[in-house]
Amino acid sequence: MRIVIIGAGIAGLASAIALTRAGHRVAVYERNPDPYGAGGGMVLWPNAAFVLDELGLLPAVAAVGGVPGAMRRLDRAGRLLQSLDIGQLDREMGYRSHAVLRRDLMRILADWLARHGVVVHYGVAGMTLRGDDTGAWLERADGGTITADLLVGADGRKHSISRHFVLGENQPRYQGFVNWVGAVELERDLVDEPGVQDFWGIGERFGAVAIGPRKLYWAAAAAAPDLQRLPAFDALYERFADWPAPIPTLLRATPREKVSLIAVHDVDPVPCWHRANVLMLGDAAHASLPTSGQGAAQALEDAWHLPRCLAAHDGIDAALAAFTALRAPKTQAQALGARQFAADLFITDEEQCRRRDARAAGTPTAALVSGMARGWGSGLPL
Ligand SMILES: Cc1cc2nc3c(=O)[nH]c(=O)nc-3n(C[C@H](O)[C@H](O)[C@H](O)COP(=O)(O)OP(=O)(O)OC[C@H]3O[C@@H](n4cnc5c(N)ncnc54)[C@H](O)[C@@H]3O)c2cc1C
Repeated sequence: MRIVIIGAGIAGLASAIALTRAGHRVAVYERNPDPYGAGGGMVLWPNAAFVLDELGLLPAVAAVGGVPGAMRRLDRAGRLLQSLDIGQLDREMGYRSHAVLRRDLMRILADWLARHGVVVHYGVAGMTLRGDDTGAWLERADGGTITADLLVGADGRKHSISRHFVLGENQPRYQGFVNWVGAVELERDLVDEPGVQDFWGIGERFGAVAIGPRKLYWAAAAAAPDLQRLPAFDALYERFADWPAPIPTLLRATPREKVSLIAVHDVDPVPCWHRANVLMLGDAAHASLPTSGQGAAQALEDAWHLPRCLAAHDGIDAALAAFTALRAPKTQAQALGARQFAADLFITDEEQCRRRDARAAGTPTAALVSGMARGWGSGLPL
């Protein structure tokens, strides 16, 4: 089958690899001229590691990543609330979690495609999806057309043309908080070992992930209910200057031009992800808030399932319907769970935050981790 993918993020590149491995002819079109993108990093939890292993990419990811041992949740004063044993999660799911920089993962995905002759056309801006319920094609800004048996919209949460084509609208939902994200490589060790530190304040949060003792990425977050009155970029430095170590060091060490400020949106769950020969997947279909920690993992799971659905069903309609039926419940449960977690994290009332922290401190962590393993592993042969 000839397949064109719109968007060269994690979902687009991983789908291109999985579909190529399954024998399809694939091309990718990306509006951004920068192949590796900005941003910090992510933890690729065991379900993501499973897909990367299936794609033959896990050794390359392990070579640039770190295996986090624990996710420690702390209050604004640095007191430990909860320590989740990531080793337990990894054992229960059968794969190790890996913390990586986004640009490293993107490079590994793009290198595989380059080595296997799959062309990623970067810098193709202004494309439109044309057509109706019987068939669709891409129209380039210069008027040229791109046709394919299947058009996969892996074009993200904010400006997805595939979501617009499938649903008639694309209205990502602003969820009332902003993230500043950054990554840094230091000249001396800052932490002992890879791991996650997640500090909870009052309407504020700071997550720091150590890939190695000197290589870290971080995400600061603050409640900002009004999209028209977002915090200034520099508010980052005032708000978090006196937070516990290692936060001030991370902020001082990260070059300002390497920090991005994001107004955080997700998308409402929808029951249908396809129309004619267009399928949306990844964030375009099911963007969840970063509080799910699962956006990249779910993009990778999409990539793993799609060629299987195409092989198992006669005709594109049946395959795309099966894909949606398989993927929607898991991703939508995560998206709704992430909204709930974010609502709890970005409370601005001091007393409610104190109660939230006490609840976290009193929660048995082994059961919590087992619940995560069950949810994240569902639908995969782990
Ligand atoms: C602060 C933060 C922390 C996160 N942490 C984690 C984590 O720890 N673990 C995890 O699993 N996930 C995490 N995520 C989520 C994860 O990064 C995303 O869910 C994932 O990257 C989605 O990939 P995607 O390819 O679907 O979308 P995107 O990465 O948005 O890629 C879409 C691509 O499509 C392109 N595009 C858009 N429109 C067009 C068009 N019209 N034509 C051509 N190209 C187009 C865009 O330029 C972009 O390159 C985090 C996200 C954030 C913001």
